[in-house]
This record gives sequence, structure tokens and C-alpha cells, in this order.
Amino acid sequence: MALHKDEAIVLFKRAYGESDKIIRLFTLKSGKIAAIAKGGNKSQKRFMNTLEPFNHINVEYFEKPGKGMVRVENADIVETNCGIETSLKKACTAGFFTELVDRLTKERERHDELFQILKEVLQQVKRAELTYMEILYHHLKVLETLGFMPNFTACVYCGNKMDEEERIYFSNERGGILCASCSPSLPHKTYQAGVIEKVLSFRKQGREIEDPKTYRLFEREVQDIMEGFMSYHLDVEFRSYRLLKNFVLT
Ligand SMILES: [Zn+2]
Repeated sequence: MALHKDEAIVLFKRAYGESDKIIRLFTLKSGKIAAIAKGGNKSQKRFMNTLEPFNHINVEYFEKPGKGMVRVENADIVETNCGIETSLKKACTAGFFTELVDRLTKERERHDELFQILKEVLQQVKRAELTYMEILYHHLKVLETLGFMPNFTACVYCGNKMDEEERIYFSNERGGILCASCSPSLPHKTYQAGVIEKVLSFRKQGREIEDPKTYRLFEREVQDIMEGFMSYHLDVEFRSYRLLKNFVLT
């Protein structure tokens, strides 16, 4: 058995048996791993509150060759989740991002950039409630880092580059926009001109749209694009996204 030292963000935790915990960690060096913490549930001394979701920790774990789940030996806090629990909105936002990372990454695949993004998002959520625009900014960043960004610039069917005003048809199935000639042959939704552009420009700038009326209109259509895309490509709707939508986005 080899002992590994790493840093990690706790994505998920549940009690297992009387006193153990099953957790999923997003580690810096090894990506996502499933772990068991013996005595992690009962004994306050053993892990204190280190293995709670959204915590950034230093962790030592044992790994048996050929066995999927590792065993947590030691863990200490680098940065606690304290502050996230102060509002439902914050908890839902943090939950959305940890679930996003959990669902979009494969076990044991290292993603340094994604680790930094998740760390930063959680730090921001601790400090303040994020607006939908801020959530979207990070959401797009996560998709981009993992290579799951929808194609917003060229027709996903024929590959033709399209002018800004032509970018109105979006196909969930193909994960991007369609041109006017390809759109009749594939399922898609039509959006008002400019919406796709705003998503793109927003990804670059991370700023809010100033006019509140445009902002609301834009927000709904963008939410629709993102929701359709995510639910199509991930099969199941996110539990955390439903919560986020109920408490934050309405
Ligand atoms: Zn086309």
C-alpha cells in the first residue's frame, strides 16, 4: 500500500455504516477519487470537520493497487467552507459547482486549471452571494477548461463560420449553433439575435449587462441555452441546479 499526499476539495460526503464516511475528493495531483474515512463519522477527534463538502484540505491516503476506493489516513484544513452555510443561495451555488466538477470529470484525471477554478469559485461564494452572471461566467469557464464548451461561432453541422446576426439557432443535440441552411434538418431552438454574442462576450469580460431590461431578457434566454445543453449532454438534470434555480434564479 502506498501513502499519497495531496491537496483536495471535498465534493461529496455521506455516512457509511456506523462511524465511517464515504467521500469524493477532487485532488490536485490525481483528479477525482473516491475515498473512505474510517471512523470519520463518529469520532470528532479523528477528522474533526475536515471532510465536509466545499472544504479545501491537505490529505494523506492509502491506496491499494487495483482497488478503487482509497483510505483517508490524515486530513487538515487549508481553507474551510465557513461562510458558505450562511445562506441557502451560497450553499446552492457551491453545490452546483462541486456537482459540476463531480459529474464532468473522470476518476483519476488530473486537471490543474479546473482545481484552481473550483477553489476560486468556492472562495468567492464564501465572501458573497454570486449573481447569475457571475455563476454563468464560472460555469462557462469550467466547460471551456474541460473542452465541453458549446460551439457558438460556427455551424456545428456544416462548419460554416457565421456572422453575429445569423447566430440564432441552437442545437442541444449537436452542442452548438446552426446556420440557416442546416437548421431545417436538425432539431433546434431559435433565440433572439444577439443572445449568443452576449454569452460569448460575457465569457471574455465577466461583466454584467448594464441595462436591467436587456439583462433579464438575456438572462432567461441564456439560462435556457445552458440548461438545454447541460441536460442533453449529461443525461440527468443536476439536483443542485434545480435547487439553484428555485432559490437563486427565480
Ligand atoms: Zn450549416
